[in-house]
Amino acid sequence: MTSDIDRLLNLASEQLPDTLARLKDFIAFESISTDPSHKADMQACCEWLVREFEALGMEASVRQTTGHPIVIAHDRTAAADAPHILYYGHYDVQPPAPLEEWRTPPFTMVIEDGPHGKRIVARGTSDDKGNMMTWVEALRIWKAEHGSLPARVSIIVEGEEEILSPSLLGFLKENREELSADACMISDTLSLAPDHPALTISMRGLLHAEITVTGPSCDLHSGSYGGVVVNPIHVLSRMIAGLHDADGRVTIPGFYDDVEEPPAEVLKFFDELNFDLDGFLGSVGLRGEHGEANRSAEERMWTRPCCDINGIWGGFIGEGRKTVIPSTAHAKLSCRLVPGQTADKVIAGIREYFAAATPADVEVKIDYFGGTPAVRVPHDDRYVMAARRALKRVFARDAGLKGGGGTLPLISDFKAELGLDCILMGFGMPDDLVHAPNEKFDLVCLEAGIHSHLVFLDELVSLR
Ligand SMILES: [Zn+2]
Repeated sequence: MTSDIDRLLNLASEQLPDTLARLKDFIAFESISTDPSHKADMQACCEWLVREFEALGMEASVRQTTGHPIVIAHDRTAAADAPHILYYGHYDVQPPAPLEEWRTPPFTMVIEDGPHGKRIVARGTSDDKGNMMTWVEALRIWKAEHGSLPARVSIIVEGEEEILSPSLLGFLKENREELSADACMISDTLSLAPDHPALTISMRGLLHAEITVTGPSCDLHSGSYGGVVVNPIHVLSRMIAGLHDADGRVTIPGFYDDVEEPPAEVLKFFDELNFDLDGFLGSVGLRGEHGEANRSAEERMWTRPCCDINGIWGGFIGEGRKTVIPSTAHAKLSCRLVPGQTADKVIAGIREYFAAATPADVEVKIDYFGGTPAVRVPHDDRYVMAARRALKRVFARDAGLKGGGGTLPLISDFKAELGLDCILMGFGMPDDLVHAPNEKFDLVCLEAGIHSHLVFLDELVSLR
């Protein structure tokens, strides 16, 4: 590393107490997006962020949306031909409940000893306030030392990530010009270990539907009708049982037609992670593998689609007994989607599957609640490569490239509306208790995150 970047990394480490003081203020806002009683906290948190970005010499403002406000900032100190990076973070957090399980008050940041050294405990330390501070502090330190940044920087911090970003797409549409950039940088994902960084290079999509099976026009006495009428719960159970074949493949018509296989190189990256499947299953009390035959666990989690029943109900489920043949039966269904698949085509297949499995005297209704496509981030994109080089310089080892089995609608929104690929360079640990009581962020992760973002800026210098 150049001596100049070494100096900045040392500064970042020396200034950690100041960083923690700022993080403590950020944490103190009870910015719980799902709870309408915290509307004023959301606004106050935005105003605090604006002051922080203004203190960095940026133009910053709070923008109202149909939901919670969004904070936008721009730094205009870089050359006009410098790369343009849009940094994304979210200031909203999950509710702290159940409160009695917290060792300390959830919105008062405390530093404790933990297995990876000091750890920062409070709601939002890992997801996403602490993680977000890694790039905020890197920008602060670089700018304070050099007076300007090596990249054109825009910032978007939303307050609805934890409720699936309902206002984001509309906001991006309305402000497309202002938010255009070359790449989007997000620190809201996990590393592999404190000394093993990772970039997430794919996320699965998602669709939701509800199935209602109706038979007789009212609940029937099973003594009078049992044996001669159709039972909607039996019908629904057969339909659900038929959703997978003996090889664990989903039987919805056309389900796999458009599934894209990832490049061989990506499968090699996943293989190199030496994923501990036994430990992964053991941590939730399981031993055996399930799912599509002849696929690795990494493939089944990250690059293959799946279909799950999330809930099933109908008939009498109260205490005691009641001999009834129910009129209706219900199930909630979701599918995780992968690149190539579209939610519209998959839901059409779902309708076809249930229609074909519907016997006489039964009606099946499918309510479709919408879908989000999967996203794949090109691992050899020039900005992703810059992030990979930066992580290697800081950690002295290659970043693991992993997939994500879950869904972040904002990533497909950035791609669809702004054409941006998102660099998912997060510094959380798998044991951060994100969304749970006693959420934490390890101090080593905060420090390594700031260092990584400083070196990423250093990499951008040569990308002009
Ligand atoms: Zn988050």
